Amino acid sequence: MIREPMTVKELEASVRINNFDEVVLGYTEEEAVKEASRCLQCRNPDCISGCPVGIDIKKFIYQITQKDYKGAYFTIKEKNNFPSICGRVCPAEYQCRKTCLLTKKGEPFASPKAINIHFLERFIGDYGMKHCSHTSHATPNHSDKSEATGQVQHTFKGKKVAVIGSGPAGLCCAGELARRGIGVVIFESLHKPGGVLRYGIPPFRIPRNILDFEIDYLRKLGVEIVPNFVVGKVKNLSELFSQGFSAVFLGLGAGIPSFLGIKGENLCNVYSANEFLTRVNLMGAYKFPEFHTPINVGKNIIVIGGGNTAMDAARVALRLQKINGIAPNTTVLYRRTENEMPARRLEIEHAKEEGINFQFLVKPQEFIGDEKGYVKKIRSLRCKLGEPDSSGRRRPIAIEGSNFEIDTDIVVIAIGLKANQLLTKVTPQLKTDKYGDVIVDSETMETSIKAVFAGGDIVGGEGTVIEAMGMAKKAVQGILKYLLI
Ligand code: FAD
Ligand code: SF4
Repeated sequence: MIREPMTVKELEASVRINNFDEVVLGYTEEEAVKEASRCLQCRNPDCISGCPVGIDIKKFIYQITQKDYKGAYFTIKEKNNFPSICGRVCPAEYQCRKTCLLTKKGEPFASPKAINIHFLERFIGDYGMKHCSHTSHATPNHSDKSEATGQVQHTFKGKKVAVIGSGPAGLCCAGELARRGIGVVIFESLHKPGGVLRYGIPPFRIPRNILDFEIDYLRKLGVEIVPNFVVGKVKNLSELFSQGFSAVFLGLGAGIPSFLGIKGENLCNVYSANEFLTRVNLMGAYKFPEFHTPINVGKNIIVIGGGNTAMDAARVALRLQKINGIAPNTTVLYRRTENEMPARRLEIEHAKEEGINFQFLVKPQEFIGDEKGYVKKIRSLRCKLGEPDSSGRRRPIAIEGSNFEIDTDIVVIAIGLKANQLLTKVTPQLKTDKYGDVIVDSETMETSIKAVFAGGDIVGGEGTVIEAMGMAKKAVQGILKYLLI
C-alpha cells in the first residue's frame, strides 16, 4: 500500500506575510526518510526523463532510505550543480513529479500523491552544504576526464573562458568549466551576481545565504566575478577575445518586460514586475529608508499576469502593505482561469493562503489616472475561454459590452519577459530570431559567432532555472570540444 505523502512544514500565513523569511521550512531527516521510502523504485523510472538534467532520481531516493545522504548528494551533483536552489524553485509538478508513476497519465500536473522529489532534493542539497566538503563536489566522472572527449583535464590548463551573465545559466557554466581547471571570468551588468535568483525571486523563496553560498563556492574554485560590467557597452565581444579569452558563454537571460500596450500604461505607479521586484529583492526597498531605494505602496494593488513572476510580485506587494501598516488588499488579474495559470501550483496555493485576491477571465483595456497622472482605475473586459491556442491553453475571448472598472493605486504588470538585447543589438554577427533570442546549434550551443556559445533564457525564451542550467551544461560540452581543437 502506498503511504500518504509527507507534508512539508511551512511558516503560518498570518506570520509570514509580515516579513520576507523563507516560507517552506523543508523536511527533517525523519520526514525525508519517510517520504523517500514511499518511492516504488520502479524498474524503468519515468521520473528521470521528466528532469531536464536527468538526475538519477531513483538512486538518490534509494540512498536517502539507506541514510546515505552524502552518496545521495553526489548522485544529484553529478547532474545538478545547485540542488538547494532547484529543490526550492523547480516546478517539479510539471517536470519530474509529473512523470512519477504515482501521477496518472494525462493529468495536467503531478498528482499530490507523486513523490515529493523536489523536497527530497532540497533536503539533500542543504545536507550537502552543511556536511560535504566543497572540494569534493567534483564527482568521479568530472574529476579526471572530460565527459565530452574522455581526455585528461589538464589539457585545458591556461585556457580562459568569459561568461556573460550570472544567472543560473552563467553560474552553472562557470562552475562546470572551473571544476575542469579552466580559468573563468563572469561579467555581470548588475552590482550583485545571481540574475533572476537574486533580483526576481524573493528571499522568502530563495534565502540569500543559500545563493551566496553557491556563489562563494564558485569563487573558491577560482571563478572571478566582475560586477557592474555591461558587455556590449563597457567592452564588446572582440575586445574580450583580444584580452585572451578562448571562448565566451552568453547567459544573458530574458530581463526585458513585456507590456500590455494599452492607454495609460505610462501613468505613475504602473510598474513592470521586473522593476518592482528588482527594487525590493535586489535594492532592499522593503527596508527603506535603511536601504536607499524607495517603492510606492498603496491601499489597492493590482498585479496583472498568471506566472511565477505575477505570484512573486503579488506576494511581495502584500508584504509591503503589511510592513507599511496598510490593510492588505492585493489582487491578481488573469485573463484565463486558474487551471491555465503557468505559475507553480505551490506558489498559487501560498498566494491564496496569504490572502491574495484573484480575479480570473479579466482583460485590462485602459489605465485611468487622476489629474496628477497617478493611476486610479483599470477599465477591463470580462472574458470567456475559447479553443486552445499554440500554447495548448484555452484562448481567452473578451466579451463585448462587459466593461467594468477596478480601483487601484499601484499596478504591477507581469505578463512576460523578453530577451536582454544590450549585447545582441550591438553585435550584428550574432544571429537572433524574431523574438530577439540568440540562435544556437542545438548540439553544441554554439552561436553564429565561432567560439561564442549561449544558453538559458536568452536561447529558449523564458524557461525554468533547471532548464537554463541544462542548456549551460550542454554548452559546456560544446566549449570543451572547441577548446581541444
Ligand atoms: P537570468 O537569471 O535572467 O540571468 C541573466 C543575467 O545576465 C542577469 O543577471 C543580467 O543582469 C545579466 N546580463 C544580461 N545582459 C548582460 C550584459 N550585456 N552584460 C553583462 N551581464 C548581462 N524558474 C523556476 O524554475 N522556478 C521558479 O519558481 C521561477 N520563478 C521565477 C520568478 C521570477 C520573478 C522570474 C523573473 C523568473 C522565474 N523563473 C523561475 C524563471 C527563471 O528564473 C529563469 O528561467 C532563469 O533565471 C534563467 O536563467 P538565465 O541564467 O538564463 O538568466
Ligand atoms: Fe525534479 Fe527539478 Fe530536481 Fe530535476 S532538478 S529532479 S526536475 S526537482
